[in-house]
Amino acid sequence: MRDLPAKKPANLGIKSDKTKLFVPLFPVKEKVHIDPVLGEVRLRKSARARRISIRVHPRRGILVTVPFYAPYAMGIAFLESRREWALAALERAAARNADLPEGEDIESLRAKAKAALPPRLADLAARYGFIYHRVAIKHNTSNWGSCSSKGNINLNLNLMRVPVPLQDYILLHELTHLRHPDHGPAFHAELERLLADHFAQNAEDETFQSFLPAIRASRARFPIGHTLEKAIREYRPV
Ligand SMILES: [Zn+2]
Repeated sequence: MRDLPAKKPANLGIKSDKTKLFVPLFPVKEKVHIDPVLGEVRLRKSARARRISIRVHPRRGILVTVPFYAPYAMGIAFLESRREWALAALERAAARNADLPEGEDIESLRAKAKAALPPRLADLAARYGFIYHRVAIKHNTSNWGSCSSKGNINLNLNLMRVPVPLQDYILLHELTHLRHPDHGPAFHAELERLLADHFAQNAEDETFQSFLPAIRASRARFPIGHTLEKAIREYRPV
């Protein structure tokens, strides 16, 4: 008992959930600060913020949020102590977005991917008799999708940058992993069977038709899978 504090410190903070009701009454105050290295930085006072935080947005730049009653100078000092990190984050964000069309950024791709991909995965799974556990939209540059041994499927938000037949190729590829975790001949044979049916289903679609000449010309053992795999390699996740 000796190690315990004799008395709980008085609750001086405003931690009660009830305080959230008053949050919208605080105006949001913002000002622009010019950092010699980072350039224009927005400083925002927020009633919700309990600590200082820095966010790096690919297009909107750097935003430093400070608790409402803290001075802006505290935010600036914090930013300066993390300048190298912020600069690296800014450069990473710029590099990732260099390949994106004007007006598009990672967050808008994420929103589109979340709206489009999970329903399509569910449709394809239902059609071909697959049961997966969970689907998540991820952002990485190392793969277009993955399927875990627990049946969780991850799909890269960069799929929104490739034509629909290639998106579906990845979705079917990951679903096929539920039956064949490796990339052996049985995996490819099964995937080819699904792709053939899927192409037949979409025979009227011009985007699907555009892949047919290459598929017909392919001498690979699994011509549809091989052609689509080659086609998606021309895109790079950013
Ligand atoms: Zn695979």
